[in-house]
Amino acid sequence: NYRCRSAFKLLEIDDKYTLLKPGFNAIDCGAAPGAWSQLAVHRVNSTAANGEFPRGIVVGIDLLHIAPLDGAHFLSNHDITDSVTHAKLLELLPGAQAHVIMSDMAPNASGFKEMDHEKLITMSLSLIDLAEKVLQTGGSLICKYWDGALAHQLQQKLSAVFRDVRTVKPKASRKESSELFFLARSYRKNKIV
Ligand code: SAM
Repeated sequence: NYRCRSAFKLLEIDDKYTLLKPGFNAIDCGAAPGAWSQLAVHRVNSTAANGEFPRGIVVGIDLLHIAPLDGAHFLSNHDITDSVTHAKLLELLPGAQAHVIMSDMAPNASGFKEMDHEKLITMSLSLIDLAEKVLQTGGSLICKYWDGALAHQLQQKLSAVFRDVRTVKPKASRKESSELFFLARSYRKNKIV
């Protein structure tokens, strides 16, 4: 049982694109209440439930408290845009390297669509700084955004450092919502944005 229905969006995306593999290190940004992390624990085999496959790591971060979950390290009450959080992540990851960064982050909705959109894009841009610190070459990033005027800025910045960037809308995401995801694959380091 998942802690939240949002798991089904990641499930759908991961079934199609196989971002999470046994042995992978995954970072879950905006992880509370923890449903994406639950799926990630299973897919990267971070509890070593399957002894025949390598064991991965899941680290979840949220401003809120996240209830403990077997197989996951949680940084509760941490801001993903803060460099202190980035430093802690580096310590938690073996070799300071992640294979996947996932973000289902969302600011508290103000009700003003354009303002919420801008806030989420600004927060998501910090994921590119995080990638520069921890994402290994060839790694991938999945990140939620609300469609709007600044989406192309985020897309451009992602395209400068990932070989393949596309927009995905899982069926589990409500049709009438402006919620979309950028799926960015094949990270290449050291490209100037
Ligand atoms: N993916 C989660 C799951 O499946 O359980 C649901 C995530 S929820 C839609 C969005 C989360 O983003 C909220 O819990 C919120 O606290 C968190 N968030 C928003 N801004 C954040 C920030 N700057 N740093 C960390 N988490 C943040």
